[in-house]
Amino acid sequence: MTTAEPTIAEVIRPPDVWRGPVPADEAWTRPYWEALRRHELSIQRCAGCGAWRHPPVVACPSCGSDDLSFRPASGRGEIYSVTVCHREFGLRFGVPWIAAYVTLDEGVRVATNLVGCRVGDVAIGLPVSVVYQDYDDIGLTLAFFEPTEPAG
Ligand code: ZN
Repeated sequence: MTTAEPTIAEVIRPPDVWRGPVPADEAWTRPYWEALRRHELSIQRCAGCGAWRHPPVVACPSCGSDDLSFRPASGRGEIYSVTVCHREFGLRFGVPWIAAYVTLDEGVRVATNLVGCRVGDVAIGLPVSVVYQDYDDIGLTLAFFEPTEPAG
């Protein structure tokens, strides 16, 4: 199946079919992926120092505690950095795609793809919120982020 490649004037959407990497089944990341299947963003938080951690870790790199649990996150944040990619680098997102770091309201930064916007619509500091895309054929749900104000 071939995915049509959007032009820079089109609103970028999550891929309809996921052909990218699939997460490994690991005990310390499983709660994150299970929450996504419920359309919930759940981020690891350290009981020792209170820091939010993403991606999940086995032990907190700040205080060394292994008392980490997953907590509901707001799913809201703002773009910290952003780049428009015109090559797929083997990820099969279709081009162009928009890679970004988003700083969640909780203060933790997550790597993501921006969707629901055009290439020219994104900027550092833009408010964004999480959206979920189900890939039921492989039992996977992924989190993407889109501008809080939808593209006009
Ligand atoms: Zn800690």
